[in-house]
Amino acid sequence: MPSSTPHPSPLDILGQVFGYPHFRGPQQAIVEHVVQGGDALVLMPTGGGKSLCYQIPAIARQNAGHGVTVVISPLIALMHDQVGALIEAGVSAAFLNSTQTQEESSQLEKQLLRAELTLLYAAPERINTPRMKGLLGSLHERGLLSLFAIDEAHCVSQWGHDFRPEYRSLSLLHETFPDVPRIALTATADALTRQDMIERLKLEDARAFVSSFDRPNIRYTIVEKTDATRQLLRFIDSEHAGEAGIVYCQSRKRVEEIADTLQDAGIKAMAYHAGLDSALRQQRQDRFLREEGMVMVATIAFGMGIDKPDVRFVAHLDMPKNIEGYYQETGRAGRDGLPANAWMAYGLQDVVNQRRMIDTSDAASEEFKQVMRGKLDALLSLAEDTRCRRVSLLHYFGEESQPCGNCDNCLQPPVVWDATEAARKMLSCIYRVQQASGISFGAGHIMDILRGKPTEKVAQFAHDQLSTFGIGADLAEAQWRSVLRQLIAKSMVRVDPEAFNTLQLTPAARGVLRGEVNMMLREQALGNKADHRKKSTKTSAKGLAEAALNAGALERLARLKAWRAEVAREHNLPAFVIFHDATLRAIAERAPQGLADLEGISGIGVKKLEAYGSEVLRVCAAAF
Ligand code: ADP
Ligand code: ZN
Repeated sequence: MPSSTPHPSPLDILGQVFGYPHFRGPQQAIVEHVVQGGDALVLMPTGGGKSLCYQIPAIARQNAGHGVTVVISPLIALMHDQVGALIEAGVSAAFLNSTQTQEESSQLEKQLLRAELTLLYAAPERINTPRMKGLLGSLHERGLLSLFAIDEAHCVSQWGHDFRPEYRSLSLLHETFPDVPRIALTATADALTRQDMIERLKLEDARAFVSSFDRPNIRYTIVEKTDATRQLLRFIDSEHAGEAGIVYCQSRKRVEEIADTLQDAGIKAMAYHAGLDSALRQQRQDRFLREEGMVMVATIAFGMGIDKPDVRFVAHLDMPKNIEGYYQETGRAGRDGLPANAWMAYGLQDVVNQRRMIDTSDAASEEFKQVMRGKLDALLSLAEDTRCRRVSLLHYFGEESQPCGNCDNCLQPPVVWDATEAARKMLSCIYRVQQASGISFGAGHIMDILRGKPTEKVAQFAHDQLSTFGIGADLAEAQWRSVLRQLIAKSMVRVDPEAFNTLQLTPAARGVLRGEVNMMLREQALGNKADHRKKSTKTSAKGLAEAALNAGALERLARLKAWRAEVAREHNLPAFVIFHDATLRAIAERAPQGLADLEGISGIGVKKLEAYGSEVLRVCAAAF
């Protein structure tokens, strides 16, 4: 490269193309390493800013004459928007799609061979077609194959939750083109998946960049489930009225029910699950991305790669399987860095259901089931934990931290009580009842006996004659449920799905019965009160941000949003691809008089300034 024509540095590209003044966290180190032709493995939480880690090297290397960066992504449904966002920023990008005509494909190939494209997105199954292999070979011969970026790289591992067999063949890329650098990216934090991914993709020699997995702008709240639907409605109504969010439920049926309930309550909501046909799924995903304030009620089939930056909350109405899933799903909130909520309601039934799913799954080995039980127990411990949620979460991923001040436990420290004695009473009650009657009973009945309730069933089996009748009258039912959840999670009590969900002791119960194990639990009832209190003090992220704007700025913001919606519709792209909310807010605040006033606002690069600058000024002027 002749020194007389210096190319823009990565930092210049960040500013000129994307309109951002600074790199975030390890982005700069990653970008520099990859621009130099190094292999990289990037482990960064969702919303950390992984895309720029390969997009900026792609631009820099294209400038230096290295040709195209091929991005392998499993998210065909999102490629259109990803490429659209790059084109909006003035980067030449395209994607390979099975719906393209011969004509379109050969057009694309010509562009590639003329080194006119900076980024090419393709699904993993496309990479292996003979035509694609031939094309990659031709590009390589001409020195025009710059970089492979493997997005969502954990899909290669069966241990991750998104296993894609097609990813396995990606190791061929390295075998065929060993001199072409690779960058693999994932937000998966768990060690088993990471290791498997490195081996499968032959990334042993790649430099690993591991970021902190903390997402400081997300507030974690976990409440005990009393009336899930009502709790959810109250949560949305008090904290997120009119805002975009995702509600995760376990089953398709429940997804449909909750979506209906939200709609009946006047909330813009849609259902999404794998039982819907793919055209409808795509349509709903597009609406979620394109419309403001939409709530998606979904199973975990929804969400991978959804890069909508302004999802203000993720609610779990049913407990996920493990902390990895919980973290991945909650991570979809607040990618824009503004305050967001991760809210989960969980109860005894969740624990019973999850345990049953593990116990009755026949595909897996006993060893696998044991791992799954341990993971469920860890999630339940998090739910019942009285310490900072973030400290516990990060600790689970191997990171140590200090209490965060931004989770329910930090904001409203829960009262802790010593449940060791209660646990012993419950275990002996289950034991005595079975001994006396020769059969097992369910949770409700056991709690009635403990609390000394004279129900019909109690009378029928003469359980008021037992020594354990009424020995737990001093505790509330919520406390008993909390004790039982722990006992189930820790495998001391088994819920038998084949015998009407009756409770049975396991050998593991001995420790508690002998007084060898201590159990400290959170006071659930108080947790619920805290929920109410928050209603009056907490203003939503949007509310807070907009409260700070004066009347003129508010009007400008409203007009800018209306204008953005129009442009987005014309371009068939989500509004955030045109400008993020934060960018519009900054413009509204600045009350720009000329193009120079727009320069330096985060999110306005050279291309967008040129394309939209005068329009933005006109829209703002109309608001005076
Ligand atoms: P990930 O793929 O890691 O989940 P993205 O690449 O989608 O994250 O980035 C998340 C959001 O952060 C995007 O809206 C992106 O524009 C923004 N972003 C990334 N890097 C920066 C930066 N250096 N400065 C400002 N915003 C950034
Ligand atoms: Zn905390």
